[in-house]
Amino acid sequence: MKKNFKEEVDSRKTFAIISHPDAGKTTLTEQLLLFGGAIRAAGTVKGKKTGKFATSDWMEIEKQRGISVTSSVMQFEYDGYRVNILDTPGHQDFSEDTYRTLMAVDSAVMIIDSAKGIEDQTIKLFKVCRMRGIPIFTFINKMDRQGKMPLELLSELEEVLGIESYPMNWPIGMGKEFLGIYDRFYNRIEQFRTDEDQRFLPLNEDGELAVENSMKQSSIYEQALEEVLLLNEAGNDFSEEKIANGALTPVFFGSALTNFGVQTFLETYLKFAPSPQPRMSNEGEIQPDAEDFSGFVFKIQANMNPAHRDRIAFVRICSGQFERGMNVTLSRTGKSMKLSQSTQFLADDRSTVNEAVSGDILGLYDSGIYQIGDTITSGKKPIQFEKLPQFTPELFVKVTAKNVMKQKQFHKGIHQLVQEGAIQLYKTLHTEDYILGAVGHLQFEVFEHRLKNEYNAEVNMESMGSKVARWIEDEQINESLSSSRSLLVKDRFDRKLFLFENDFALRWFQDKNPDVKLINPMETT
Ligand code: GDP
Repeated sequence: MKKNFKEEVDSRKTFAIISHPDAGKTTLTEQLLLFGGAIRAAGTVKGKKTGKFATSDWMEIEKQRGISVTSSVMQFEYDGYRVNILDTPGHQDFSEDTYRTLMAVDSAVMIIDSAKGIEDQTIKLFKVCRMRGIPIFTFINKMDRQGKMPLELLSELEEVLGIESYPMNWPIGMGKEFLGIYDRFYNRIEQFRTDEDQRFLPLNEDGELAVENSMKQSSIYEQALEEVLLLNEAGNDFSEEKIANGALTPVFFGSALTNFGVQTFLETYLKFAPSPQPRMSNEGEIQPDAEDFSGFVFKIQANMNPAHRDRIAFVRICSGQFERGMNVTLSRTGKSMKLSQSTQFLADDRSTVNEAVSGDILGLYDSGIYQIGDTITSGKKPIQFEKLPQFTPELFVKVTAKNVMKQKQFHKGIHQLVQEGAIQLYKTLHTEDYILGAVGHLQFEVFEHRLKNEYNAEVNMESMGSKVARWIEDEQINESLSSSRSLLVKDRFDRKLFLFENDFALRWFQDKNPDVKLINPMETT
């Protein structure tokens, strides 16, 4: 039966995976796409791991990736839902775009390697999700291998990330002795490595196996039962409300590689994950099922090939329905334009673009009109969605033009690329030397490459390493507090900030100057 517009919108589930490299993001994504029938064989999501490339090999990366759209947004259908998975590039591809992608989703799936626990990149991405208060679903992966004790992993969630957890299921053993999962939510045991008809075993009222099975004689089963009892008595209560506002994460154990626990995870995720949510704009909340089409640009991907300078602007649809050839207004400029050359990026099938509604992602060919954070709408009012947050850069370089004769191109290039939101620009106070800041190293290389190819300006870049950036409001603060370990600079809006050598230098400075209020923009929202 054909869905009406509201049902179409409600059927959307748009999420990103947050994880540290190697936790199993690619493997899990592939299994999900297999369930959705979007791909036919495992190993097709990414033929390569971007992490294996030397960062200088940009052209090669782009060639192989072919401005790879399939990996930016993946879509599949399951059980009447339409699921959009947005890629969060990791490894050397980690950048502000990775963070910004989280602005375009309604929920996140956090994958944790059971042997490694919570790792750096997961913490960074988690903080961004927390800032938005979006629901987070946790998948603890690689249970087929020996890992940390499950109770230890739960306390890491609470201690390292500060989020409450509710295990939806509980592992029975691990590694070579992994027997399956005790499913607290569906009241059954799901057996690992078994015949399909033996996959689910029912539990009785006492929460024990209701049927005969060799597992009953195993001490591993006994131990799992005891732990489940402990969780029932001392663990958090299940709360849909807390899940919805990101205060509690439902936890699932499984093994993506052996496709164990993935389907159960997917089905439960779809039950509790939010459909497209209202978005705040300068005209108040915009409802996802409002009639006018609207959306915002959360990522712009430049084509690194000089022969194809076009870029792709990724738009998250926030209301209405996309129609090919429709007229929209770009709120920032008030200019009207026709969305004709747009393509929604799916694995293969480009036809479904006609059904794109709130929650879906559009890829628009961009000849340079869009900026990150731009709103487009078909409505009469030029609404503007809330500004996307600035993500604090962590890496810095000093940059100068190689050829003094080409200062003009150099300045023009820098200013345009900075406008685009690709990279952050800072200046030293009096000498006005240029310093660039980025979240990931690759952004510098992209910058250097584009400046050369698009503006014919070559640059010298001198690494300053990683720094901790903190803004200050007090206008009176001057260079007397600036040193090589706490460098005072200004951003492109002339706001002053310190670049501290490391956390230690930051604390030392704060001890010496307790009156100076240091602001971390990632923590103020
Ligand atoms: P990503 O970097 O997060 O995308 O991680 P991948 O999906 O590429 O996985 C990293 C490595 O872990 C690969 O060698 C996978 O085969 C392996 N892996 C992923 N999931 C599992 C799992 O459930 N069990 C085991 N034993 N290995 C896994």
